[in-house]
Amino acid sequence: MVTADRIAEILEGYDELVIATVCSHSSLQIFHGARVEGFRTLGIAVGERPKFYDAFPAARPDSFFVVDSYEDLTHRADELAGMNAVAVPHGSFVEYMGANAFLGFELPIFGNRRVIEWEADREKQRVWLSAAGVEMPAKIERPEAIDRPVFVKYHGAKGGRGSFIAKNYEDFLQFVDGSQPYTIQEYVIGTRYYIHFFYSPIAEEGYTLSRGTLELLGFDRRDETNIDEMYKLGAQESLKKLGIYPTFVVTGNVPMVLRESLLPKALEMGERVVEKSLELFGGMIGPFCLETIVTDQLQFKVFEVSSRIVAGTNLYISGSPYSDLLEPGMSTGRRIAREIRLASKRGRLLDILT
Ligand code: AMP
Repeated sequence: MVTADRIAEILEGYDELVIATVCSHSSLQIFHGARVEGFRTLGIAVGERPKFYDAFPAARPDSFFVVDSYEDLTHRADELAGMNAVAVPHGSFVEYMGANAFLGFELPIFGNRRVIEWEADREKQRVWLSAAGVEMPAKIERPEAIDRPVFVKYHGAKGGRGSFIAKNYEDFLQFVDGSQPYTIQEYVIGTRYYIHFFYSPIAEEGYTLSRGTLELLGFDRRDETNIDEMYKLGAQESLKKLGIYPTFVVTGNVPMVLRESLLPKALEMGERVVEKSLELFGGMIGPFCLETIVTDQLQFKVFEVSSRIVAGTNLYISGSPYSDLLEPGMSTGRRIAREIRLASKRGRLLDILT
C-alpha cells in the first residue's frame, strides 16, 4: 500500500497536474470533463494507441502513454509521475490491474484507494453496507440451503460475466465455477436502479454530511445481455429446456429518473454508506454508485456498491436531469476534475488523492 507520505513526496515534484486514465470504460467522459475544467489529459493505452477517440475530438486525450499490458503498467508509475499525472480509476482500470497492484501503484490516484479492500471482498462489502443500515438481499450461507431463487456471483467487477440464477442446489451445482470465491444472495424481484453519487470531503455547501457534501448526479439501468431480451422468447424454464441460459453481461446503459418520492431515501442511503466509510476506512471519496433493486413495496435493496465512476454515468456527459440542478452540464467526469481543481487551489490535494 502506497503511503500518504509517498504520495505527498510525488506531488511535490509536480507542476501543472495532468489527468490520466486508462482508455476504456468512462474515459471519454473523464477526458472531456478534465478538458472543460482546463486540465491537460493523458490516455493510458494498452497495446496500441486507440483510434476510436478520433471519432470524438472533444474527448480525445492530449497525449497517449502506451503500455504493453496492465502488468507492464504496474512497473511504469514513475514515468507517469514524470508527466505530472494524476490517475482517475474506473472499473476496468482496477479490475484489470488487480487490487493488489492498484494498492501499490506509486502514482497519485483520485479517491481513497483503501476502499478497494472493502469493496473487492463481497463479505467485507456486506459488513460495511449492513453496518451502514442499508438493506441488502438476504445472503444464503450454504448452497445446500438454497430454498428459493438465488443469484450467484463471483468477487470483483466482471461486467456481470459468470453470474447466474439458481432455483435449487442442483441448478447451483450445474453452473458454479468452484475455483473462484462466490456469494449467494436471494434473487430480488424488482426494478434495478443504479444511483450515481459524488462525495466531496472538501465542499461545504449543499447536502452536507458530518464532513463534506453528497451530490446525486444521476441514475441509469443497465442493459444486460441476454437476460434483458429473454422475454421475447418466453419463460426461462422453457428456454432452459432448449439449452438457452441467461447471462448478465453488460452491453450498455439506459437513462432513467426516479419516482420523486424515492429521492430522499436514495440520498439517505448514500449518506449512510459514506458516513460508515468515514468511520471504517477514512471515507469513500469522489464518485460511487449504489446498485439497487426496488421492490413493489418501494424498498431499496442494495446488492452492490461501486466505489468509483461507473459506466452508467456515460449517459450524462452533458449533464443529467439531477446534475443540471447542481450546475448545468456537470458530468461525473467533469465533477472529478472540478474536485481536483478545487483541492489544488485550497492546498488540499492530499484529502482527495491517495
Ligand atoms: P453484480 O455482479 O452484483 O454487479 O450483478 C450483476 C447483475 O446481476 C446486476 O446488474 C443485476 O441485474 C443482477 N443482480 C445482482 N444481484 C442480484 C440479486 N440479489 N437479485 C436479483 N438480481 C441481481
